[in-house]
Amino acid sequence: MTAAPDFSVIVPVYNEEENLSHLYARLSSVMEKLGTYEIIFVDDGSRDRSWQLIKELHEKDDRVKGVSFSRNFGHHIAITAGLDYAKGKTIILMDGDLQDQPEEIPKLWKKLCEGYDLVYGIRKVKKDSLMKRFNSFLFWWFLNKLSGIDIPRNQTLLRIFDKKILGVLKDMRERARFIHGMIAWTGFRIALLEVEHAPRERGVSKYNTIKLFRLAFNAITSFSTLPLRLATYLGLFSSGIGFFYALYFLYKKIFLGIPVLGYASIIVAVLFVGGVQLLILGIMGEYLGRVYQEVQARPIYILKEMALD
Ligand code: UDP
Ligand code: MG
Repeated sequence: MTAAPDFSVIVPVYNEEENLSHLYARLSSVMEKLGTYEIIFVDDGSRDRSWQLIKELHEKDDRVKGVSFSRNFGHHIAITAGLDYAKGKTIILMDGDLQDQPEEIPKLWKKLCEGYDLVYGIRKVKKDSLMKRFNSFLFWWFLNKLSGIDIPRNQTLLRIFDKKILGVLKDMRERARFIHGMIAWTGFRIALLEVEHAPRERGVSKYNTIKLFRLAFNAITSFSTLPLRLATYLGLFSSGIGFFYALYFLYKKIFLGIPVLGYASIIVAVLFVGGVQLLILGIMGEYLGRVYQEVQARPIYILKEMALD
């Protein structure tokens, strides 16, 4: 049994064969100056040679560890697996595409030593495409409005935190996972630090608008039941309209003697109320689905192979 390393660096990897060796080289040279460390690559069911490369790195350097999923489970689940296997006293998370810069780690570490439990890397300038920036603006805006917890905007995955947060995160076994929110939820003492965030040089982004939308939805439903209350508000609103509309027609009929022509108003009312009802049903269905998934209590991820010792 070897002693716990000072640092565990967790890196989720999905089809990053072009980036792995560069990442390994840059990360190792940074970490060597900081203390003892392990790098845990979590292969999220890559279809390229990523897992092969991780195993080769592990053969060469036993500070490199890896686990491999049976299929693609998603970014945040990959991070979860990394957390499960981390043994270090301080945990570092970063993406595997070299957008998060390993060279920023010492700065984060210095800040952490000032007496924080967690330091987030916040990106200074966004070097993504306009579409991606727009998506991410919407994402953070909605999230902060609806989730009810303060999740720092523009955070990169790059962050460093103490082992005690690791303990809490390991205890949170929900299936719908949004790591950024889960970490914010723990409520420890945090600091924000601006870091360089590079554009992706190799490979392609694995997030598209749909995946991001899914993530946002996951995030919102995991941290807020506000959408459920929407039913009450919308119900009040539409029955209010219906009530006043009825009064108006009665007035017209009784006092002015104008017959009410029903067709258009009926269609409008039917469509409006029907739409609202379906929307609400959909939202309730989402939460019900969430409950169903949790009740099934399946494993969060399935490992295919490990390269740990
Ligand atoms: N990733 C993953 N599983 C996925 C999608 C992405 O492990 O299903 C990894 C990916 O390899 C990268 C990180 O998560 O290391 C961030 O993904 P990406 O760079 O594609 O996202 P973006 O930076 O474009 O938001
Ligand atoms: Mg990226």
